[in-house]
Amino acid sequence: LVYAENTEGKFKKSVFEAVSYARAIADQNNTSLTAISIGNVDAGILNELAKYGADKILNVANDQLKNFVNQAYASVIASAAKSEGSDVVVISNSFSGRGLAPRVAVKLEAGLADGTVALPEQNNGKFTVKKTAFSGKAFATIELTSANKIITLTPNSYQVTEKPTGATAQDFSVEPKESDFRAVLKEIAKAAGKISLPDAEIVVSGGRGLKGPENWHLVEDLATELGAATACSKPVSDAGWRPHEEHVGQTGIAVSPNLYIAIGISGAIQHLAGISSSKVIVVINKDAEAPFFKVADYGIVGDAFDVVPKLIEAVKAF
Ligand code: FAD
Repeated sequence: LVYAENTEGKFKKSVFEAVSYARAIADQNNTSLTAISIGNVDAGILNELAKYGADKILNVANDQLKNFVNQAYASVIASAAKSEGSDVVVISNSFSGRGLAPRVAVKLEAGLADGTVALPEQNNGKFTVKKTAFSGKAFATIELTSANKIITLTPNSYQVTEKPTGATAQDFSVEPKESDFRAVLKEIAKAAGKISLPDAEIVVSGGRGLKGPENWHLVEDLATELGAATACSKPVSDAGWRPHEEHVGQTGIAVSPNLYIAIGISGAIQHLAGISSSKVIVVINKDAEAPFFKVADYGIVGDAFDVVPKLIEAVKAF
């Protein structure tokens, strides 16, 4: 079973990654794949899940479940897993996925591997899976020994793979329990039109080297040209130069984009903890000895105020 989380009625790429990943696990076990969506999603959008290998698409359209409620959504996913006889449940390692997965695991008495980055290996009845550990500083291979297993997949770590089945969505009705609504999300305040940081494929991030918020147009302009999300180091958000939800690292968000561009960030271990699973890291820093260069794939030793405007012009001309 794969949970297809919708964002305002649409599926993000990370959902198609999770469906493709779950399809591959189903194939490893010669079994079928069911996808479940909760909330208001149009049939045409739901049916996209069939393109990536869902044999069955369950749609839970219930007014009480219109907005995300951790406990209630976990109950629905667990009851779908039971009725489908699914012993592996795949969830995207998104904000809500991280809240849901342990709750589903409790309900199904399942082992949980969170933040996986590769397909499980299944040999001689053993089910092992590679995941990030210690805030992304290391990888761990863990074995799930329980009959039921919950996996959350790190975004950008598995390729979207088309495998059309032609399945169409069908209703799945559940009667949520009152006790599932003890804590209800009332409102999420968000900046309109910005690319979501945890799911971004490209991230442009700024540190204290940018001197002050008045210089952030450099980060924003480069991000706009690249279709990237913006991020920052902790001291930058602590100083109020940028909002806290942009802070990446051990105490902030962990990101795993295809490209992470760090401008004027020293590369402290606590910062690297949140970005080290990025595929390509580009560092711009005027100090050639900055620790960030040790983990960079590409580095420019130079003043951000010279380098970044040139980079923006180069991307514009590309
Ligand atoms: P600095 O360390 O001040 O580095 C600025 C860099 O900019 C320098 O390398 C400098 O050479 C360069 N620079 C200066 N001027 C220019 C210029 N004109 N052009 C180009 N480069 C220039 N930090 C995080 O980011 N995330 C976390 O989650 C986090 N969690 C923490 C948790 C704990 C418990 C602790 C103790 C610390 C944590 N920190 C975290 C803080 C971390 O240790 C560093 O202090 C922080 O990452 C440094 O931020 P910075 O690189 O922006 O600033």
